[in-house]
Amino acid sequence: MPPDSIPMTAGQQRGRRSWAEPWKIKMVEPIHMTTREFRQKAIAEAGYNTFLLRSEDVYIDLLTDSGTNAMSDRQWAGLMLGDEAYAGSRNFYHLEEAVRQHYGYRHLVPTHQGRGAEHILSQIRIKPGDYVPGNMYFTTTRLHQELAGGTFVDVIIAEAHDPANLHPFKGNVDLDKLQDLIEKVGAEKIPYVSLAGTVNMAGGQPVSMANVRALRELTDRYGIPIYLDATRMVENCYFIQQREPGYAGKPVAEILREFCAYTDGCWMSAKKDALVNIGGWLAMNDQELFDEARNMVVVYEGLHTYGGLAGRDLEAMAIGIEESTRDDHIRSRVGQVEYLGQMLLDWGIPIVQPVGGHAIFLDARKIYEHIPQDQFPAQALTADLYVDSGVRGMERGIVSAGRDPATGDHRYPKLELVRLAFPRRVYTQAHIDVVAESVQAVYENRAQARGLRMGYEPKHLRFFQARFEPLPE
Ligand SMILES: *Cc1c(COP(=O)(O)O)cnc(C)c1O
Repeated sequence: MPPDSIPMTAGQQRGRRSWAEPWKIKMVEPIHMTTREFRQKAIAEAGYNTFLLRSEDVYIDLLTDSGTNAMSDRQWAGLMLGDEAYAGSRNFYHLEEAVRQHYGYRHLVPTHQGRGAEHILSQIRIKPGDYVPGNMYFTTTRLHQELAGGTFVDVIIAEAHDPANLHPFKGNVDLDKLQDLIEKVGAEKIPYVSLAGTVNMAGGQPVSMANVRALRELTDRYGIPIYLDATRMVENCYFIQQREPGYAGKPVAEILREFCAYTDGCWMSAKKDALVNIGGWLAMNDQELFDEARNMVVVYEGLHTYGGLAGRDLEAMAIGIEESTRDDHIRSRVGQVEYLGQMLLDWGIPIVQPVGGHAIFLDARKIYEHIPQDQFPAQALTADLYVDSGVRGMERGIVSAGRDPATGDHRYPKLELVRLAFPRRVYTQAHIDVVAESVQAVYENRAQARGLRMGYEPKHLRFFQARFEPLPE
């Protein structure tokens, strides 16, 4: 037989050069597969809400990339260097230096996690009756803006609402929409633009450098500040490096500093990009805002040099920031997501495109097209995936969108998605293969799927604690 006709595995393909993770495993945590029967019982007990499952009953946990990252040996060593002084811990100064160096803002206020920073910024800057424009909402961000008396206004480009649209920067702000809002309500009613890097709810979609530059020009004309949700800004900068003309050879760390320089400050959930299990911060250039934030943090989080965290956590964060901005790290982090995305696309399974930075988003509206949106198709798909293989994802559709505070009705988002989010440095390619095959199995059984009815509905952020039951056949 001529050599050409011998079937080759992917790894044997001639000329192929694979990349691999820029780390090796030093410590392992056992996980195990349960039976289908067991999982059917577990998900029923959890009210068909994957947030209410016990993590021990999960095989591969893609619920979130928040706080689920694996720390490096350097970060673990850093924990031993915790300076647990109440005031002026050296770890605070290390963190301050890391944020200044990589994000470029002058002042730092640590918080226990991202929402602590959102709370402080919202309370200081937003007055009742204000409008806060942003590139698509995020659950906790919008809630804090609303609790401060503001109204969130979505000014993301229209392409972001179409899961099949291949725009490379679907996180971009629609400057016309923003300008219309400014003209309608007046600049004095807009305390800041709430700009997010890689927009989670749009499928992890980035903002381009050209867009933030133009946004800066527009807001400067009206004297409106820009505050950045920098939670996944490193991933955003990787996409700029990959997709935006002029950035191909630039290190991600450099792109990050440039992007942040167009903004006035940021809030951060360090549980994402920054490779730790807990932590966050608020950073800004404005001295007056800093003074107010530093005063407020002592009321809600802790003294301004620890913000509700242990010194060791600040140290792990400082080291994590530096590791997170390395090109080899971020390429393999996003590369793993792209690997799963490409496999699902090859099999014709509808997902949000282009594939985002931290997660694959299954298009539940398409996959379960026979289930109406008020029967929670994405919630049902999330539960079915867990039953199939013990893979845990989360709903990002009508349940997450909550109710309109004015009318009390469900908000009906265009995107009805299941999110499979990847913890950083935790799972291998073999785990990802198992996930892909399970998604395919559920997809093939889609005609049998049934919708759900909501039994218990909590008042705030209902997706965390709501309980469901299957509708009768
Ligand atoms: C997670 C997250 C937050 C909130 O941060 P927590 O650390 O969970 O409080 C804010 N914005 C975005 C984009 C997030 O992903």
